[in-house]
Amino acid sequence: MHIFDEETQRISDEIGAYVDLRLRMDPVALDQPKSFAQLSELAGQTITADGLGGSQALKLFTDVLAPACISTDHPRYLAFIPTAPTELSSLFDLVVGASGIYGGSWLEGAGAVYAENQALAWIASLAGFPETSGGVFMQGGTIGNLSALVTARESARSEYGNEYRWVLLVSESAHSSIASAARVMDVDICECAVDESGRLTGDSVREAVNSLSGNQRAFAVVATSGSTNLGTIDDLTSIADAAEEHGLWFHVDGAYGAAALAAPSVRALFDGIERADSFIVDPHKWFFAPFDACALIYKNPDLGKRAHTQEAGYLKSLQEPDAWNPSDFGVQLSRRPRGLPFWYSLASHGTRKYVEAMERTLEVARDAAKLVSECLVTEVVYPPSLSIVAFRRIGWTPAQYKSWSDQLLADQIAFVTPSTHQGETILRFAIVNPRTTPEDIATILATLA
Ligand SMILES: *Cc1c(COP(=O)(O)O)cnc(C)c1O
Repeated sequence: MHIFDEETQRISDEIGAYVDLRLRMDPVALDQPKSFAQLSELAGQTITADGLGGSQALKLFTDVLAPACISTDHPRYLAFIPTAPTELSSLFDLVVGASGIYGGSWLEGAGAVYAENQALAWIASLAGFPETSGGVFMQGGTIGNLSALVTARESARSEYGNEYRWVLLVSESAHSSIASAARVMDVDICECAVDESGRLTGDSVREAVNSLSGNQRAFAVVATSGSTNLGTIDDLTSIADAAEEHGLWFHVDGAYGAAALAAPSVRALFDGIERADSFIVDPHKWFFAPFDACALIYKNPDLGKRAHTQEAGYLKSLQEPDAWNPSDFGVQLSRRPRGLPFWYSLASHGTRKYVEAMERTLEVARDAAKLVSECLVTEVVYPPSLSIVAFRRIGWTPAQYKSWSDQLLADQIAFVTPSTHQGETILRFAIVNPRTTPEDIATILATLA
C-alpha cells in the first residue's frame, strides 16, 4: 500500500483530473441526497477483503457518492450557512493532506504554525485586537466557542475560587453551540432579554446578573455578531460595559458574521468587539475557505494556554517557554494545520480581494431584500444587517413551505429551507457566495408565486 508505483501514478492523474473538473464547474451541480436503500443499491458494500482498487473506488465516489451530497458551494445553496471556498483554498487543502504536517506544536509544525498565525493576526487586526493577541484554528465554531468558554471559566475560578454554580449569560438568538458548550461544561445558562430588534444589550446583561440567586455566579457573557437565523449583531459596546462592571469574560461568537469585519460598509456594526476577551469566526463560512476551520482568538492567549495545555511526560519536550503550540489554546491535541487553505488563498490573492468579495455578497443581500419586497407574495421579516435576508411567503402554512422547499431541491433549482422566527415559519437567504447573483434570487422568488 505504501508505494508510489505506476498504478498510484494513474490514480494520482485521475484524482487530479476530477479535482480539475469539479473546480472548473460554474456553477457546480447542486445535487441532492439519496435514501439509504438507494445508496445500498447503487454503491453496495464498499469495504471488502481484496479492495476495489483506487480507480474503482474513485469512480464510486464521483458517480454515486458525491452526487448524493448537496454542493454547499452552489450559488443557489442559500440554506443554513453555505460555503464558498476560493479555488486556491480548495486546491491547497490537497497540499495540506499530502504534506504530513502535525499542526499541534511549534516543534513539529513551525512553518505551518507561522503561516496560520499570520492569517490569525490579520483577523485579529480587523477586530482591533492588540498584536499580543492570538489563538488557533479549530475544527469549527462549536469547538471554538467551547474552548473559549472553558478558558473563561478557568479564569473565573482562579480569580474568584470555585465555590460557585457557574452561569453563562446568553441571548435567545445565541447559536445552539453555546447551549451545547454549557451542557458539556455543566454550567447553567441564563437567557437575557433582547431589545425590539432582537439584540442583546448591556442593560439586559445587568438585569440577568442581578437575577441570579443562591451560589450562582456569572462567569461570561456571549454576544453574537451575526446571528445564524437573522444576521443580527448584538450591542457589543454596551455589553462590554456591563461585562467590565461585573467582571465577566466577554466572548463574541462571530462564526458566521465576524468575517464582515473586513467590509467597510458594515464595520461600524461591530464596534465594541475590540473590548472582547475572545471571539471566533469560521473561515469555512464567509471567509471563502473549505470545511473545516474556525479561528479562535484570545486577547490574552496566556489564559487560553493555562486552561488547555495538556500535561504528560511525553509532551514535556514540546513545552519550550517561547514555543507557540496551537494545541495549547483549545480542546484538542493532534490537529491538521487547518488554517493553511485559508492562509494560502489570503496570501495569494491579498486582503483587498477579500474585502471586495465580501462587499459583493453584502450588495447582493441588499438587492435580494429589495427583490423580496417588490415581489407580490413575499415580504421581508427582518431587513438584512449583514447578508441574511429573512422573509415570509404571505399566507403559507408550514406544510406549504416544506413542500415548496422539497420541490425546489428536487427540481435542482436551489436549496432554501424553512426556518422559524418568533413561532412563525419563515424563509431565509444566507448569502456568502460571491457567485450568487440577483438573478439567482429572482429565479427562486419566481417559484413562490
Ligand atoms: C455556524 C455557527 C456556529 C457553529 O459553527 P460550526 O463551525 O458549525 O461548529 C456557532 N455560532 C454561530 C453564530 C454560527 O453561525
